[in-house]
Amino acid sequence: MARYQKPDCRLCRTERTKLFLKGNKCLTDKCPLERRPFAPGQHGRMRKRVLGYALQLREKQKLKRYYGMSERQFRLFFKRAERQKGVTGENLLVMLERRLDNVVYMLGFALSRSHARQMITHGHIRVNDKKVTIPSYLVKEGDVISLKERSAQNENFKAVIEANKTRTVPGWLQVDWDNLQGKVASLPTRQDITIPVEEHLVVELYSK
Ligand code: ZN
Repeated sequence: MARYQKPDCRLCRTERTKLFLKGNKCLTDKCPLERRPFAPGQHGRMRKRVLGYALQLREKQKLKRYYGMSERQFRLFFKRAERQKGVTGENLLVMLERRLDNVVYMLGFALSRSHARQMITHGHIRVNDKKVTIPSYLVKEGDVISLKERSAQNENFKAVIEANKTRTVPGWLQVDWDNLQGKVASLPTRQDITIPVEEHLVVELYSK
């Protein structure tokens, strides 16, 4: 499965959006979007007005990269969103937000979504006391996300927790720092999703 190998703020510039591929780096002025808010490359400044298909494509790429997914996996999510009742674009966003790797990152247990993915595939994460190694696992209301006991004692992990403790956790999640666990208080809604995206453009792109 091909994946963009260097999560980097260069992509923040391509998408003109803070993608948090390296987590907190986007919150500092080290994210080059702060100083150079235009696309990278020789013609970056000229790529200003994006319309039609190009705009739809940009919105899709932005969303896909934000959640660190391959095209194939992203399309599978879209198909599932389409089959659900309600507005496809909103269904898609909610499903993306419910991914276990996103939740682990949102709870502050990882430095970035890609770091969260690695923790999951390496078996450090438990859901309702059972090991889950699938980053695309969709959390459900009431799920309790915790760390394998031995992982919680790890010094690197303790440093991650210290760095993230002050971060705001979205309202649909609850974090218990003493026991290093998080709970899905309710499922996220469209309003909980903070990435600036016009999801209807993604729906238009795939509906052609
Ligand atoms: Zn950035």
